[in-house]
Amino acid sequence: MEYGETESVYLRLLYPYTQAVLAAVPSHDPLKKKGHVVLEDDVPHPANPPVGCAFHTRCLRASAVCRETNSDTMEVEARHFMACHHF
Ligand code: SF4
Repeated sequence: MEYGETESVYLRLLYPYTQAVLAAVPSHDPLKKKGHVVLEDDVPHPANPPVGCAFHTRCLRASAVCRETNSDTMEVEARHFMACHHF
């Protein structure tokens, strides 16, 4: 989970899910190269989310701790918050 001031979230792109979502936004400039993030596996059912970080089944950085517990939310800079074990 990541939330905060729009400018900070967009410019820093810290959280893996934020990175993947914004990488999927098409560009109006066909010559502009963008990073490509491929998320594998199925999206968990929202009524039955997995234990630990809800994104761990699709996150490229997931580790054992991600599959067991949620990270505490931390303020990574003024008014920019994130919960991730691997920040
Ligand atoms: S806590 Fe782990 S699984 Fe969740 S976003 Fe961070 S690295 Fe990925």
